[in-house]
Amino acid sequence: MALDSKIPDGPLADKWTNHKNNINLVNPANKRHIDVIIVGTGLAGGSAAATLAELGYNVKAFCFQDSPRRAHSIAAQGGINAAKNYQGDGDSTYRLFYDTVKGGDYRSREANVHRLAEVSTNIIDQCVAQGVPFARDYGGLLDNRSFGGVLVSRTFYAKGQTGQQLLLGAYSAMNRQIGRGKIKMYNRHEMLDVVIVDGKARGIITRNLVTGEIERHSGHAVVLGTGGYGNVFYLSTNAMGSNVTAAWKAHKRGAYFANPCYTQIHPTCIPVSGDHQSKLTLMSESLRNDGRIWVPKKLEDAKAIQNRDLKPTDLAEDQRDYFLERRYPAFGNLVPRDVASRAAKERCDEGFGVNKTGEAVFLDFAAAIVRYGKEKAHVKGLDENDAKLIQTLGKEVVKSKYGNLFQMYEKIVDENPYETPMMIYPAVHYTMGGVWVDYNLQTTVPGLYSIGEANFSEHGANRLGASALMQGLADGYFVLPYTIGNYLSDDIRTGPIPTDTIEFEEAEAKVTSEIKHFINNKGTKPVDYFHKRLGKIMWNKCGMARNEKELKEAIEEISALREEFYKDVLVPGSADEFNEELAKAGRVADFLELGELFAKDALVREESAGGHFREEYQTADGEAQRRKEFQFVSAWEYKGAPKDAELHKEALVYENIEVKERSYK
Ligand SMILES: Cc1cc2nc3c(=O)[nH]c(=O)nc-3n(C[C@H](O)[C@H](O)[C@H](O)COP(=O)(O)OP(=O)(O)OC[C@H]3O[C@@H](n4cnc5c(N)ncnc54)[C@H](O)[C@@H]3O)c2cc1C
Repeated sequence: MALDSKIPDGPLADKWTNHKNNINLVNPANKRHIDVIIVGTGLAGGSAAATLAELGYNVKAFCFQDSPRRAHSIAAQGGINAAKNYQGDGDSTYRLFYDTVKGGDYRSREANVHRLAEVSTNIIDQCVAQGVPFARDYGGLLDNRSFGGVLVSRTFYAKGQTGQQLLLGAYSAMNRQIGRGKIKMYNRHEMLDVVIVDGKARGIITRNLVTGEIERHSGHAVVLGTGGYGNVFYLSTNAMGSNVTAAWKAHKRGAYFANPCYTQIHPTCIPVSGDHQSKLTLMSESLRNDGRIWVPKKLEDAKAIQNRDLKPTDLAEDQRDYFLERRYPAFGNLVPRDVASRAAKERCDEGFGVNKTGEAVFLDFAAAIVRYGKEKAHVKGLDENDAKLIQTLGKEVVKSKYGNLFQMYEKIVDENPYETPMMIYPAVHYTMGGVWVDYNLQTTVPGLYSIGEANFSEHGANRLGASALMQGLADGYFVLPYTIGNYLSDDIRTGPIPTDTIEFEEAEAKVTSEIKHFINNKGTKPVDYFHKRLGKIMWNKCGMARNEKELKEAIEEISALREEFYKDVLVPGSADEFNEELAKAGRVADFLELGELFAKDALVREESAGGHFREEYQTADGEAQRRKEFQFVSAWEYKGAPKDAELHKEALVYENIEVKERSYK
C-alpha cells in the first residue's frame, strides 16, 4: 500500500486552519450515536477521552493501571514547551517550529510540526483554565525556563512534577465525563488485539487483569494513546509497565510501524549500579539550566575519583574539563540530549568516567549556588563576601527550584548533591518511533488512530526536552477531536457495532491461544530472565552507538532469544486470576519482535541522525553525519515475522526550512 500522509495544500502557516475549515463535522445529535474506544489514559489518551466526551461522543477508555492517575505521564518532571514568548526573548510559532525540526535532525514532517507549534499556546491556556499550578514569578505571571537545544526560555513547569500536574488536569476533565456517563472507564484492562471488520478498526479484545476474563469491546473508531516502548531496553527511565503490546498488535493487524530505531537517550540519569536493577531514574533536564557537567582533565585524577581516593570537591577549577562548554560554547550544557549523551559517553570511553564502573560524569551545582547566593545577598543588602551566608542563601534558591529532584537523588544514591556533585550517565528515555500516522493521526488502518508517544510523532530523530507533553496534549485536546470527526461523519447511520461476529471471534481465539501457550509451557526461566537478556543486546548493539556488524548480530541474537523464550519461559499460576507474570510474558513476547525490527531499521538507516548514531557515519570530530538519501520516514509493514517486514519510505520535503548542518557550536 502506498503511503499517503494527507498533508493539506496551501501555505504552511494556513494548512491547519484551512484543513479544519474544510473537514466534515458530526452534528451534536449524531455524536450521541457514535462510540469511540480510547486505549490509554495518559496525557494523550486522557486529554482525547475528555475532549471527545465533552463533544458528545460515547467514549470507552482503557488502561492497565488501577487508575488513569497512574499513567507513565505522571513521571514527567521538567516541563512543557509553548511559543507564548512571555519572556520577550524572541520566541514565536516559527521559532518553535524551527527548533523542533532542527532538534529532530530534519527527520520530521514540516506540516505536523508547524501545527504543533501553533496549538502549543492553546495547551497552556487550557491547562491554566483547568487549574494546573504552573510555576509563577514573583509578580504572579507564568514563569519559564530553558531546555536543551534552544536559545529561548519557553518551558512551562510545575516544579519537578509537571507531568503529574498536567495529568491531574486531564484526569479531572475525564472524571467530569465519567460522572456524566459519557466516558465508561475500564481500569486494569489490557488491550491484546484490535478487531478489523471490513477493513476498518471496529473494536478491541481486552483481558481483565484482575479476573483474567477476556472481553470484546466495539466502537466506530479505535484510538491508541498507549505510550512508548523504551522498556524494550529493559532498563530505562520509563514506568515499569510501559510496553509496546497495543501498538505491536495494531502493527500485526496492518498498521505500519515507523522509525522504530529512533530512541532518545537522556544524558542526565542516575547511573546503573548493578545487575539487580530493574529501573533507571531520570534527573530532569531542567537541572542543566544550572548544573555544569564535567569530568577530570587528567586520567590519573579520574582513576583516583573512581577509587574514592580523591573527592570531586578536591579538584581545582583548572583541573576540570567542562566538556560541553568546551565543545559547544554557544549552547554549552544545554545542547540537545543526543549531543550531550554522546559527549558524556565519549569522555567515559576514554577513561574519564567518575564512578566505580567509569560510566558517569558530574553534574555540579557549586557555581550556581554561589551565583544565586550572591544575587540574593545583593537584593537583601547583605554581605556578598560572607562565604557561609552565600552558601546558605544559594542553597535555598536551588532548593526552591529543584528541591524534590535533589531529595530523590539523595534517597537513591545516599549522597548530598548540595555538597558534592551529582553523578549522571545517559539512559534510554523516550521513543520517537511508533505507529505511523498521517496528518489526521490515522494509521494505515482506517478508523485506527494513534496519539502521543505511541505514534511516530513530530520529533524526527531526536526529541527536544519538554516537547513530548506538548505533542501528547496537542494530539488529545486540539488535533484528534477535529480530525476523527471527519472520519466518523460517515458513521452517523451505522448503529452499534456488534461483537458476536466472526472477526471478534477470531481475534478472541488468537488472544486466548497465546495465553494458553504461556500458562501451559512450564519452562524453566522467568519472564524477566529473557527481558534482561533482550535489554543487554539492545543496549550493547542498538544503543548509543550502532554499527553494521553488531546490528546484524543483534538481529540474529534476538531472533534466537525469541525462540528460546517460547520454548522455555515459565509462567506460574493460571489465566483466570490476577497474574502479573502472565501479563509480562505477553509484553515481553512483543518486545522480542519489536527489538528485531528495531535492529533491522537501524541497519537499513545508513546515516547518523539525532538519537540514531551509526559509527560508520560521523564527521571527523565525532558529530552525527546525516545523508540526503535518508531524508525519509521508514514505515514497516508486517509480513509475518520481523525479518520479513517490508519497508515503505515517506519522503520528507522541506520547503519552509533550510536543511543545514545541525550545529550547536
Ligand atoms: C522520567 C520521565 C520524565 C519525563 N519528563 C518529561 C518532561 O518534563 N517533558 C516532556 O515533554 N516529556 C517528558 N517525558 C516524556 C513524557 O512523559 C511521555 O512521552 C508522555 O507522558 C507519554 O504520554 P502518553 O499519554 O503518550 O503515554 P503514557 O503516559 O505512557 O500512557 C500510556 C497509557 O496507555 C495505557 N496502555 C498502554 N498499553 C495498554 C494496553 N495494551 N491496554 C490498555 N492500556 C494500555 C496505559 O495504561 C496508560 O494509560 C518524560 C518521560 C520520562 C520517562
